[in-house]
Amino acid sequence: MKAILGTPRVEVVLRWLATAVGTLLLLMGIGFLVMPELLATGILAAEPARAVGINSLRGDFGGLFLGMGLFVLIGTLTRYPTLLLVPIVFLALIVTGRLISVIVDDLPVVTKGALASELLFLAVLGLSLLASSVRHENLAHRAVHAVTPRLRIVVVLGVVVVVIVVGAFQAQRQIGLRLLGAVAGSQLQSNGLDGIPDGLHVGLAGTGAPLPEHRRHGVCTFVLAGKHLFIVDSGPGSTKALELMRLPLGNIEAVLLTHMHSDHIGGLGELMLKAWTRGARQQPLKVLGPDGVDQVVQGFNMAYAIDTDLRIAHHPPTIAAPEGAGAMAETIRSFDADGAATIFEAPGLKVTAFLVDHRPAAPAVGYRFDYKGRSIVISGDTLPSESLRRQAQGADILLHEALQPEMLQIIHDAAVRGGQPNAAQLASDIQTYHTFPEEVARIARDAHVRQVVLHHFLPQVPMRIFHSAFLGDTRKIFRGPITMGVEGMLLSLPPESLDVRLGWFL
Ligand SMILES: [Zn+2]
Ligand SMILES: [Zn+2]
Repeated sequence: MKAILGTPRVEVVLRWLATAVGTLLLLMGIGFLVMPELLATGILAAEPARAVGINSLRGDFGGLFLGMGLFVLIGTLTRYPTLLLVPIVFLALIVTGRLISVIVDDLPVVTKGALASELLFLAVLGLSLLASSVRHENLAHRAVHAVTPRLRIVVVLGVVVVVIVVGAFQAQRQIGLRLLGAVAGSQLQSNGLDGIPDGLHVGLAGTGAPLPEHRRHGVCTFVLAGKHLFIVDSGPGSTKALELMRLPLGNIEAVLLTHMHSDHIGGLGELMLKAWTRGARQQPLKVLGPDGVDQVVQGFNMAYAIDTDLRIAHHPPTIAAPEGAGAMAETIRSFDADGAATIFEAPGLKVTAFLVDHRPAAPAVGYRFDYKGRSIVISGDTLPSESLRRQAQGADILLHEALQPEMLQIIHDAAVRGGQPNAAQLASDIQTYHTFPEEVARIARDAHVRQVVLHHFLPQVPMRIFHSAFLGDTRKIFRGPITMGVEGMLLSLPPESLDVRLGWFL
């Protein structure tokens, strides 16, 4: 090995490979300086939170990548190859962080592309460092130590970096327009559901509850059963998430509301409008729900009436067909003795609404979807419910709301201490009509559910560090997987199998 690495040709090849890695790192650093959002979302899948996030991306990531790139290039182009140690240490720490994340964050290895490139970079830099030290050892041995200082190269390199950075800042307008041209066509034409195989799929567009949280939208779930697309609840802000997922809103079979609390209906007006104009619907959006759905739909139709007229006047009927505007309500009433009602049937598919207990919000329902031997149950908002337990029998996935009383108590006490009696009162009031995580686990265990997914978190769960506190003893009660739902998550159930496949939309 030492003999091979010590060969001049091998050393030169490795040095050039290392130089290429350094150049790439340098370009990424420049990229983060010039267009941090694009690189972060495109390469790191990290969406910056407001201007502070963009600032950190420019500063931290720009600095990290530029620094690594510069150290690599100075190391490979001068007589100081030991400088390669600096980026090697950083890359090793980055890889370690990624591996820790794969282990502790319950993530699918979606970052394997990034991980593979970092390992490759690490290998190239490590071998190059090794090769040059072996080579230098040999040269020293022969007392030929005539490596001329290449300070000039470093200076030229520095100037090139400055020129590129300044040039890229100056050319931002052109870069922006070019990029838009490159991505706009594919974005506009693509349909997020293209390529999704036959099966029963559940996607999370909104997993939040009424308490505000930066990264979560109001509660909203889509279910795709074969070709049939349903939206369950339409919480505030969730229509934007559905659009970002590039869901074909024009193809929605029906919107199913669980109850009329604002955190479940706040996005309905926008959903109606976008399904009509962007989805080019020729008939109003069908909205099903328990008593009260009529009033809610009428209200949204009325609130959007002026906008509807304006769009009909402004756009051709291919975009804003008058007969496709707004929504029409259908109240679910025909519950049987068990509190269940079949609301939709098609070959291989059955959708059932069932009464749950969210008093004083009554009636409130949950939904069960059965398609080709697979099943998904969505709880809606409820206390532990007997009818839900019956409906969840043998379900592949139970998507359930959850409230963590211990965490809410902490919020309550903090509100009391902070002199905010209303916030404190709210924190205790909401505890009376939701389900604790351990109770969800008991229901799932008793009903022989295959997998639990939680959403509609009370209180907020903004970071993974809170997951354990939120879940409490659930994992001792229910032995199957319990997943903390997050926007963009897609769970797919192929027909007539036991598989649950996890994918990502955003
Ligand atoms: Zn509610
Ligand atoms: Zn709710």
